[in-house]
Amino acid sequence: MRSAADYVSRRALGVDASGIRKVFDLAAKMKDPINFSIGLPDFDVPDAVKNVAIESIRRGDNRYTQTQGIAPLRERLRKDLSAEMGRDVGDVLITSGVSGGLFLAILATIDPGDEAIFLDPYFVMYKHLLTMAGGKSVIINSYPDFRFHAERVEKSITPRTKLLILNSPSNPTGVVMSEAEVRSAVDVARKHGLLIVSDEIYEPFLYDRGRGLPSAAKHYENTLILRGFSKSHAMTGWRLGYAAGPEPVISQMTKLQQYTYVCAPSPLQHAAVAALDVPMGDAVAAYRKKRDLVFDRLSRKFEVVRPEGAFYIFPKAPAGVTAMEFVAKAIENNVLVIPGNVFSEQDTHFRISYATTDEKIARGCDVLCSLV
Ligand code: PMP
Repeated sequence: MRSAADYVSRRALGVDASGIRKVFDLAAKMKDPINFSIGLPDFDVPDAVKNVAIESIRRGDNRYTQTQGIAPLRERLRKDLSAEMGRDVGDVLITSGVSGGLFLAILATIDPGDEAIFLDPYFVMYKHLLTMAGGKSVIINSYPDFRFHAERVEKSITPRTKLLILNSPSNPTGVVMSEAEVRSAVDVARKHGLLIVSDEIYEPFLYDRGRGLPSAAKHYENTLILRGFSKSHAMTGWRLGYAAGPEPVISQMTKLQQYTYVCAPSPLQHAAVAALDVPMGDAVAAYRKKRDLVFDRLSRKFEVVRPEGAFYIFPKAPAGVTAMEFVAKAIENNVLVIPGNVFSEQDTHFRISYATTDEKIARGCDVLCSLV
């Protein structure tokens, strides 16, 4: 007789979530913490967008859509992205969040043993999705500046390398790739025949350069752009993202979506069209101020890279303690942050999400500085 645990696949067991679980266990005892762990903006979905979603449900947009998404949204995104990138970006697929897009992109491109390169620290999902697909994560150390160093990447390329995954603005560091870094990434990809998967979910949150995100898609046709509405319009629960790129890749992702997610939520796709016309500049300006506040306070006591986008900052833990030990101390003092080993092969830094009130940012930073 099998025990229930015997039903669990090696694939599932191969995904290690112990780091984040340890933090949640510690956090469970906290009462009303200063929560610097949340990866979503602290504003709500704009009313204009909510109203379209509600009207859409009332009108009866409640059935499956075409797998690839509704035409008005796909056409609009293709037009906007092509204008931004200065060339036709290819097909567009509406996905269930950028998570859905990442999962389908990896399933559609990675055979067992194929390799995908990305920088350490990284967005947690990349490593685990590659494990699920039987692929290999090739993780390039980007400490201490968290910048893209082409020579480090190039040294790690093998005949099995297929993908170069870029994430700018970055979760967890807030670093934005410069135009020169993007061009050097494109040069490497072109030379070695790699598909660039460009995770640009934080694209609107740029603090030092207006809305001109340097993107590989501007220079390289074998780029798959992944963006979404979770962060830009605070719709994390709506599960809406999109992928744009070469037709052979998008069409395989579409086929796989047909047999997994089926389609992104139907009424919310209609609301997403309206979301594209809602200016979010005020929200971004508020986040620029938060970035300044958090960097100013933390840089008094911590070694820290100034973030240029997203809403994260990734300081180094004080000398003599691991990041996990420092996080445990922060949690004892009612400030919840995430240890770097959740996003990294090393445990030397910790992540703060400053998507919270200015008052909590100031208070939380003061507590963290007092622990050094
Ligand atoms: N990419 C990055 C870098 C992220 O930080 C996140 C969310 N935390 C995602 C993708 C996935 O977002 P969603 O599935 O909500 O669109």
